[in-house]
Amino acid sequence: MTLQMPSTTPQIWRNRFARLGSDFSTPQPVRPLNAPYWVSRNAALTRELGLDASWLASQEALETFAGNRVLPGTEPLASVYSGHQFGQWAGQLGDGRTTLLGELQTPQGGMELQLKGAGLTPYSRGGDGRAVLRSSIREYLCSEAMHGLGIPTTRALCITGSDDRVRREEIETAAVVARTSPSFIRFGHFEHFSHSNQHAQLTTLADFVIEQHYPACRDAAQPYAALLQAVSERTAELMAAWQAVGFCHGVMNTDNMSILGLTIDYGPFQFLDTFDPGHICNHSDNQGRYAYNKQPNVAYWNLFCLGQALLPLIDNQEHALAALESYKRVFPKALENRLRAKLGLADDAAQNDDKALIETTLKLLAAQQIDHTIFWRRLCDFSTPAGHESVRDLFLDRAAFEAWASPYAARLAQQDLRASTALMRRSNPKFVLRNHLGEQAIRAAGVQDYSEVETLLHVLQTPFDEHEEIDGHQALADFPPDWAAGIEISCSS
Ligand code: AMP
Ligand code: MG
Repeated sequence: MTLQMPSTTPQIWRNRFARLGSDFSTPQPVRPLNAPYWVSRNAALTRELGLDASWLASQEALETFAGNRVLPGTEPLASVYSGHQFGQWAGQLGDGRTTLLGELQTPQGGMELQLKGAGLTPYSRGGDGRAVLRSSIREYLCSEAMHGLGIPTTRALCITGSDDRVRREEIETAAVVARTSPSFIRFGHFEHFSHSNQHAQLTTLADFVIEQHYPACRDAAQPYAALLQAVSERTAELMAAWQAVGFCHGVMNTDNMSILGLTIDYGPFQFLDTFDPGHICNHSDNQGRYAYNKQPNVAYWNLFCLGQALLPLIDNQEHALAALESYKRVFPKALENRLRAKLGLADDAAQNDDKALIETTLKLLAAQQIDHTIFWRRLCDFSTPAGHESVRDLFLDRAAFEAWASPYAARLAQQDLRASTALMRRSNPKFVLRNHLGEQAIRAAGVQDYSEVETLLHVLQTPFDEHEEIDGHQALADFPPDWAAGIEISCSS
């Protein structure tokens, strides 16, 4: 007989957002799923949160994360926000299908736990409050993939599923993702109180965010302008990270912009296959507002909306504009640094021509329609003859390749070779969540085979490693199959 450790229900809840009161949220009864079952649990995040792994495997946890049971100490709620969607003021939105359980005390500080797909709320508008298994698997894997890439993001703790039917374009089954973040506050929360002239609440919200997440702003001469500047800088860093890795978000509405500069609300996102700067991943984005190469400007536009919303607190337009200006300073520098690292060029040895080299590289990738992730990964070995050849093999137009490769090789030769290879290996991932990989895992999950979800979770959490221990690891890092081009993904599934 083996002694079993008793599993421990997490008990340390603080729920500071709930304390803001009824102008900010509505208590939300959790809405049960029928006969829930586990789809996946994220062991790494469980450990990081200091949760008991045996508890997370328990019936109590299953019922908690499916929304069938309320843990003592949690105060489930839905929050209200507004936002600009596709460039238009959309008015009141809010947590239409998410329920915030509460704020867990963890070794890293307060971490909010939210259920996505947990049923109707006062803000569901015409929706059903649910999420389908397909989109839940995409969010779960992608948030962990982004974290593995070192890109700020909300995270995902587990997925529970049910045979409950959900109507989308077809009938699908329901699932709930339990996700975590230090805060789920969006630009749209600020817009909500500003546009409805609730300036006392706007102040409360700004003070709350400064107190909890931007304490340095408290001591600034203009704390609210300092907040706008800090958010602008974090958003600039985030956009640089997205652009460098080839991530398209797909729905950069202001209600999907995190006040902490995190990637949030994974919907029709996509990692680029071929490097097509104008790529539109969201099938319902007819105008291409959120195309890959528009993302940095859209982020700035969204920050402008945030600045507008904060204006009643800042009082001086010039200060707000100056705070926003920081985006234009931080973003290009951050992107350049990331691309230099991808090229293996050390930060402390920047040269004037490096900018031109970056531009030529990106132009070449676009003109030759080269696979983004594979190009950069193969580039890690460019200085070896075999590696050089494997990069050259990606190009049909060998003359165009040679015209780029010779000056690049000369520039690389000025670097410490080992250091630049190591830099590239930690800047150019082998694995990203390509659409077709997600799709394969989703198809298998449809017949209760969750093994591909587990394999992808494992490699995507450490995407810079080779993962030779995984059978078929090479296939997970390979070119997309032809059918990948036919995958269509749109908003809110
Ligand atoms: P999204 O663009 O997916 O982030 O969603 C925009 C707004 O619609 C948010 O306020 C969501 O809470 C809400 N929403 C999306 N899908 C649903 C759904 N199935 N049921 C209720 N509300 C939803
Ligand atoms: Mg959203």
